[in-house]
Formats: sequence, structure tokens, C-alpha cells
Amino acid sequence: MKDLKLAGIQGRKRTVVRVGDVNVGDGGFVIIAGPCAVETEDQIIDTAKQVKAAGADMLRGGAFKPRTSPYAFQGLGLKGLKLLDKAKAETGLPIVTEVVDARDVSWVCEYADVLQIGARNMQNFSLLKEVGKSNRAVLLKRGMHSTIEEWLNCAEYVLNEGNPNVILCERGIRTFEKYTRNTLDLSAVPAVKELTHLPIITDPTHATGKVSLIPPMSLASVAAGADGIIVEVHRNPAEALSDKDQALTPPQFADMVKKVRKLHAAMKGIE
Ligand code: PEP
Ligand code: MN
Repeated sequence: MKDLKLAGIQGRKRTVVRVGDVNVGDGGFVIIAGPCAVETEDQIIDTAKQVKAAGADMLRGGAFKPRTSPYAFQGLGLKGLKLLDKAKAETGLPIVTEVVDARDVSWVCEYADVLQIGARNMQNFSLLKEVGKSNRAVLLKRGMHSTIEEWLNCAEYVLNEGNPNVILCERGIRTFEKYTRNTLDLSAVPAVKELTHLPIITDPTHATGKVSLIPPMSLASVAAGADGIIVEVHRNPAEALSDKDQALTPPQFADMVKKVRKLHAAMKGIE
């Protein structure tokens, strides 16, 4: 793959992205969890406490939701970011939240520890350049129709603006399969490891769209060598304002975390 002047591995040592006290890419397994969207103060703070108690390392929650329909819930915006800030104050969990517009980057940085670039915005080059100028880590999701090469070139855009803290996220690609929401391309994990020095996590939630498939694909992500996962957790999925079919309950999440941590420890033993 040519032109990966900064993202390419080319003998470089692996990048470890530090977010607060959490290291992504140092051989540990980072678990990011939380609701698809921030809905209410009680919802986000209660969820943050529950995912923390279960062993999550960071809290996710969307304040800006890029929805397929303009009539669907679009997120609480600034109010949502302020609620994430409160959840962070209560739990100490760093915040991962999406930014959808280049004009919002500077002020979203006041609340976000990690700026998420969503699949639909992977090739929004003005947004990539703007987050590349920021001093926040960037979680760059793979576009649902994008090749690994196109995705890594998007990471190159961020790095080229001077921000070295990029975490890649495989979140499933569109295939002819309809049973799952997308197809989790797990081969992208070792492929990215041989092509770049950047850490990579997976998103088994958006990849499968089905609660029952999230734990097995999270375990498979550990086995594939991912540096972590990001998953959606809602205390009452039936009432979630977005992505309710794919949210784990806090007990389901807690059970999964135990298995993921065990498998990760076992994998260390065979490396
Ligand atoms: C999300 O993480 O809530 C999200 C919208 O993900 P994606 O951009 O991968 O669809
Ligand atoms: Mn979602």
C-alpha cells in the first residue's frame, strides 16, 4: 500500500494512544461501553456507573447522532455533552463521543477525551483535517463501503495534520448478508496490524446489530488480536431512542466482560 507515509508500519514501533489513565495499543484490551445516544441525565449517569462497575475502561455516548432518517432522534447536542461531563465527574471514565461537523470540533473537544468519527463520515476530509489539528485522540471508524486502503488513507489525513493519536475501529461493512446489520470484517484486524502501527478496536454492536451475536464477536475480536472493543449498553433497551435492538443490558455486558477478560488473559499465555 503506497502513500501511507505516516500510518504505514515501515519499521515504526506501535503507537500506544493514551487517554487519561487508559492505554490503547499496549497489549491490554480496552473496553468502551455506553448507550448509543445520551438521552437523560439519569440514564447516562446510571449507565456510566453500571458499565464502570462491570469493568469498562471508557464511556461512550452520542450527543450528535447521524441517523439514516432526518426525522429520527438526532441527539441532545451540547446538553448531551454536558451530561457526559457529569458522568465523567461521577465515574472518572474518559468520554468517547462522535463529532459530525468540522465546525463543532473545537468546542466538542472541551467535553470529549476521544473524538469519534462515524462510519458515514470516514471520508469527510474537512472533518478529518479539523480533528487532526485537535489535541484529542481520534476513534476513526471504517466506512461501511470502504476498503482497508481507503480507511488507512483517512487515518493518514489525521496524522498529516499533526495528531498522532488515532485508533482505528472496524465496525462492519455492507455485504449481501441481511441477517446481520453489517458483516464484521475480522480479517481487517490482523491486516491493519501488518500494514500500520496504529491500534485497532472492533465494534461488534454496529457490526452485527443483534444482541445475541455481540458476545461471540467480542471474543472473536480478542482472538483476532484487537486492542479493544466498543459496545452499546442500555439499561432498558426496549426504551432506547436509537439502536434498541443491539443494546446489551448492564448484566449482559457484565457477563460478557468477564469472558472477554478471561480469554484475553489466556491469549497472553499463548503469544
Ligand atoms: C455509533 O457508534 O453510534 C455509530 C453511529 O456508529 P457507526 O458510525 O459505526 O454507524
Ligand atoms: Mn448506535
